[in-house]
Amino acid sequence: MSTPSKLYEGKAKIVYATENLQEYLTYFKDDATAFNALKKGTIMGKGEINCTISSALLNYLGSKGIKTHFLAQKSEREMLVKAVQIIPLEVVVRNIAAGSLCKQTTLLEGQKLPFPLVEFYLKNDDLGDPLLTVDRLNIMNIATVEQINQLKDNALKINQYLIEFFGSCDITLVDFKLEFGLDFEGNLLLADEISPDTCRLWDNLEQDIEKRVLDKDRFRRDLGKVESAYQQVQKRVLTQIEKLKNT
Ligand code: ADP
Ligand code: MG
Repeated sequence: MSTPSKLYEGKAKIVYATENLQEYLTYFKDDATAFNALKKGTIMGKGEINCTISSALLNYLGSKGIKTHFLAQKSEREMLVKAVQIIPLEVVVRNIAAGSLCKQTTLLEGQKLPFPLVEFYLKNDDLGDPLLTVDRLNIMNIATVEQINQLKDNALKINQYLIEFFGSCDITLVDFKLEFGLDFEGNLLLADEISPDTCRLWDNLEQDIEKRVLDKDRFRRDLGKVESAYQQVQKRVLTQIEKLKNT
């Protein structure tokens, strides 16, 4: 196989073309950024961990009937995916108040929300990924009303599967970010990654509000032990996947 050509390098991954027009190879880096890339660093081994966790979770969601871009984990850091045209939205689902929701509202961190909150943020670093309204989305022609409803339905289903899955790992799924795209046939697919970079995950076996954090907030808030938190998530996710295989 010839050297794959780089199509795009983002903050956490590099996307390569493959010999098949309809497939891309994504390479997961150790680079970590926060606060719209104002804070930069490295989380040793993150690429392998996030590639492995994402592959496991996307594959799991696929087994539940969710259409995803996942095709195969090719190596520790490489995932083969269906090429999609990414819809420039960050679809965020929140079960418990944290992060920007607490900064922008009177909700307190840790407050359980009465229903899962689905939010759409514009994927645009220059604008700082602003929160959108459905009407703004519509007017910008980013997605049709039908697609917006489809995104929300999908996000809520994924939330239910992931809450249950992480629950069986003794982890609380606080919130997470999803990206979707359209494949060559126009099918809406869940794309990108699902990892401790893109989810807030709290350890149910730990009561301390700082020690329980198992996600990128450890890096954002300089809580230390970032690598071991990511490793812990990987270990529990893979153990649970193995358990499910044997049942
Ligand atoms: P970012 O800096 O935007 O977070 P990442 O480094 O996480 O970017 O990922 C690189 C890019 O790959 C992102 O723009 C993401 O939307 C895109 N991407 C993810 N999955 C696919 C796919 N299946 N097809 C095309 N692009 C994808
Ligand atoms: Mg990203």
